[in-house]
Amino acid sequence: MSARVIVVVLGKQGAGKGTQCKRLAQHLGVPHVSTGDILRAAVRDRTTIGLEVASILEAGQLVNDDLVNRLVEERFNDADTAGGALLDGFPRTEAQAEALDQILGDDGVKICINLDVPNALVAERLSSRRVCQECGAIYRDSDIEAISGTCTNCGGDVVQRADDMPDAIHQRLEVYERDTAPLLAFYEARGLLVRIDGDQDPQTVTAEILDALAERGVA
Ligand code: AMP
Repeated sequence: MSARVIVVVLGKQGAGKGTQCKRLAQHLGVPHVSTGDILRAAVRDRTTIGLEVASILEAGQLVNDDLVNRLVEERFNDADTAGGALLDGFPRTEAQAEALDQILGDDGVKICINLDVPNALVAERLSSRRVCQECGAIYRDSDIEAISGTCTNCGGDVVQRADDMPDAIHQRLEVYERDTAPLLAFYEARGLLVRIDGDQDPQTVTAEILDALAERGVA
């Protein structure tokens, strides 16, 4: 089997990881695996895990590593990941990065893209972000009237995430600096890190990521 296209996309909340992973998934033909989406679906469906993590998500804290690692390991058992995956929101701690190496074995992470965006811009993006509860499509608050609060992709309700409220945004950015920012050095030391300016229009960001993947022979 040829090498899997395993791309880790890092960046603060609101840096554009979800938007870029959706676009890249179409280009690359590998699934967008978002641990945030998996956890939110569990909360929405009131599964045992969902009930366990609901208040953690709402407060903008991190769910424990073992639980998230297990969810990712299970996701990699699905047939659609045979060609690879775009990982969004995972890993978020060094322990998760090490667990990911274990899960993937020899055929590991091929590249780590960091979407660089200043804090002031992510805070502004997060507070105006609205998402479809069903498919995760992302809108701006200014779009809501035009779409009558209904997702144009799937007809789901478009809402503001509880963790996109001001207190939780602040909390999430602190957690990012403490737990996730050290992963930049982790992937840089392995020669896998590519920094992309996330403060550009989405098409330009996608084009730059695809160039970086091509330059490194990833896809
Ligand atoms: P996201 O959509 O990636 O911003 O994730 C939303 C929330 O889900 C986070 O604020 C965390 O509470 C939880 N979460 C998502 N991914 C992880 C992860 N890899 N480790 C721990 N918690 C996570």
